[in-house]
Amino acid sequence: MKPTVVIGGGVVGLFTAYFLQQQGEEVIVVDQGDMEENCSTGNAGMIVPSHIVPLASPGMISKGISWMFSSKSPFYIQPRLDRRLIDWCLQFYRHSNAKHVQQSIPYLKGISLYSKQLYLDFVAAHGNEAIKLQDRGLLMLYKTKEGEKDEAALAQLARENGLHADILSKEEIRTLEPNQEVDVRGGVYFPDDAHLSPKDLYRLLKNHLKDQGVTLKSNVTITGIEKGGSKVKAVITQEGKIDCDHLMVCAGAWSGEIAKMLGFRMPMMAGKGYSFELPNMPELKQASILTEARVSQSPYGDKVRFGGTMEISNHVDKINICRVEGIFESIKAYYPEFQAVFPSEDKIWKGMRPCSPDGLPYIGKAPGWENVAFGAGHSMMGVSLAPATGKILADLKTGKIGTLKTDAFAVGRYVR
Ligand SMILES: Cc1cc2nc3c(=O)[nH]c(=O)nc-3n(C[C@H](O)[C@H](O)[C@H](O)COP(=O)(O)OP(=O)(O)OC[C@H]3O[C@@H](n4cnc5c(N)ncnc54)[C@H](O)[C@@H]3O)c2cc1C
Repeated sequence: MKPTVVIGGGVVGLFTAYFLQQQGEEVIVVDQGDMEENCSTGNAGMIVPSHIVPLASPGMISKGISWMFSSKSPFYIQPRLDRRLIDWCLQFYRHSNAKHVQQSIPYLKGISLYSKQLYLDFVAAHGNEAIKLQDRGLLMLYKTKEGEKDEAALAQLARENGLHADILSKEEIRTLEPNQEVDVRGGVYFPDDAHLSPKDLYRLLKNHLKDQGVTLKSNVTITGIEKGGSKVKAVITQEGKIDCDHLMVCAGAWSGEIAKMLGFRMPMMAGKGYSFELPNMPELKQASILTEARVSQSPYGDKVRFGGTMEISNHVDKINICRVEGIFESIKAYYPEFQAVFPSEDKIWKGMRPCSPDGLPYIGKAPGWENVAFGAGHSMMGVSLAPATGKILADLKTGKIGTLKTDAFAVGRYVR
């Protein structure tokens, strides 16, 4: 029997390998990078069942356009004549409506709650010392009247869909954040959200997989695919070919290129974001999103990580320092007493979020291929949804039929 090859050793690829291995499969994970740093290591580590509204939603287009004119804003599309980008933007525009949001909610809610449970199971099996999962909710902070209106509407929507959401006054927020002033109008608290240390999770997954006999091949790029009828026979790399029985594509922002090798269209853009860690002084206790600035804040005891911005851009390696300044300036705006010192450039992390144009991931069988499946395009929720995605793909391989509805995540939904 030939192995199952997983393309991409990000958090989605590793969780896919994790569940495949648990089912007794022989697995090889192949990654073009060093498997030390990728989008899955420096993110905010939030597990967010509260995030039931996809990125493509009403109001995003007008907000996005207004942000385009500020060098420090949280969103930017580098204008260029690129057919893929134009196609992606058109699809994003088509999906930014109330009907798409309503249709997406049950799917996002279902997969998010499933994934959160899998994280709790993971902690029960592996302990919590390594990944530092803090199951203590997420606070959406707002400073403006408009922000209050938007967040209250999201809280209402969450409640209508059976999730817990509490609207908190500034004074109530003080009890969650006792060490310093929080300069806001109020916030919405989602008690069922959580956060963890993504880098430690990544390290634990890698070590566990190696111990269980999974082969991890770093610095190996998939450059082609050997096909036979409706099956993939092998992947081609710069080091030769690797025969496979099944292929799982978890190649993050690059997954659209693998779809192209397989002959179908799967729109995907990279949404670059940045993060940096600072000493946590005075200590922030509660994970939060500074909503007007679109900045995440994840505390880990003596350190805290701030992250944000979404640059739809090609420049993988370049750090746009203005955007990082935008993140940095928001810290004092929300936490005026926090001792923030601007990080040196070598301490700034960047990652490329895999963004589908409708804000929903691609999970399931590849159209026209008997032995290929994809798990990609999770945008801002790749960590949150990685265990569920990996489990769905592993179950698909063994023919297990789950009860979770996943048809909205169909990999072939853009095939014409
Ligand atoms: C600032 C920031 C904050 C974030 N915060 C959160 C958060 O709080 N919660 C959350 O859930 N998500 C968050 N995210 C998003 C999350 O980081 C991503 O959704 C997630 O890491 C994507 O994981 P992935 O495995 O799909 O992709 P990746 O981690 O990008 O892994 C894909 C891998 O595929 C490899 N690859 C690609 N093409 C090939 C090829 N041809 N051959 C071999 N290998 C290949 C790449 O080298 C890469 O390592 C954040 C992102 C950013 C930028």
